[in-house]
Amino acid sequence: MSRIAYVNGRYLPHRHAMVHIEDRGYQFSDGVYEVCEVRAGRLVDERRHMQRLARSLDALKIPAPMSYPALGIILRETVRRNRVRDGIVYLQITRGVARRDHGFPVAATQPVLVVTARRLDFEQNEKIAAQGVAVITLPDNRWEHVDIKSISLLPNVLAKQAAREQGAREAWFVDKQGRVTEGASSNAWIVSRDGKLLTRALDHSILQGITRTVLIDVIKSQGLQLEERAFTVEEAYAAREAFLTSASQIVMPVVQIDGRPVGNGAPGLLATALRRDYHRHAEMA
Ligand code: PMP
Repeated sequence: MSRIAYVNGRYLPHRHAMVHIEDRGYQFSDGVYEVCEVRAGRLVDERRHMQRLARSLDALKIPAPMSYPALGIILRETVRRNRVRDGIVYLQITRGVARRDHGFPVAATQPVLVVTARRLDFEQNEKIAAQGVAVITLPDNRWEHVDIKSISLLPNVLAKQAAREQGAREAWFVDKQGRVTEGASSNAWIVSRDGKLLTRALDHSILQGITRTVLIDVIKSQGLQLEERAFTVEEAYAAREAFLTSASQIVMPVVQIDGRPVGNGAPGLLATALRRDYHRHAEMA
């Protein structure tokens, strides 16, 4: 089956789905994006993703291309046309097409909206989660507003590639104080020796992951001990468990950090239980 993409008002086969060479996303990475999980054909946590999208657009002063309910219709239609049951839907909005000039183009410039959807191998992901994944740590060399979900991802791209080249699935960025900020495309968590769940508090140094937000609700509802604070790489090495969260991976156990086993080197009990319980708390629409 050929894949279909939405590009500025039209649903097109992938090979015909194109944007102009002077799109500001292409020229300046002047745009934002969202990735929403699709499960059993339904969008997971759409409302929160739309809220975050609105924040990102606002921060970059890019006008929304349409109302959020209208955007929701396009997301669903793209999922439907690609017959995605379990997977992700991706949306990107750039400041539009204009003659290359760093400053913003005239206010009448229309933002460019692209939506794609693809299947993820559900069974395969479960197998990966049952084994756990490896991460490496790297200095965080990103700009100071990674709370904006911008498509400007070069440090993340390089970090992810470095992880792959070292046989790991994710790279965890580390700030100048030696504390983990987040992953190249996920939030970072550990379970301390005394059983507390730790993840960095929200500020400009991490993305407000939707999976992170929902997981905090799960943790609170189960009466587990949570501390929203930065943890050091040393604490991560010594942790009982570690895991990462993102819309496409939900809760993914981490069993190795920089080549050292976490805990007993197997996926942790808490991470495994939280992965299992996540969708009972997520909003499905
Ligand atoms: N941090 C970064 C840098 C990311 O790219 C992502 C995934 N988009 C996340 C965290 C996790 O966010 P979410 O749970 O909303 O997918």
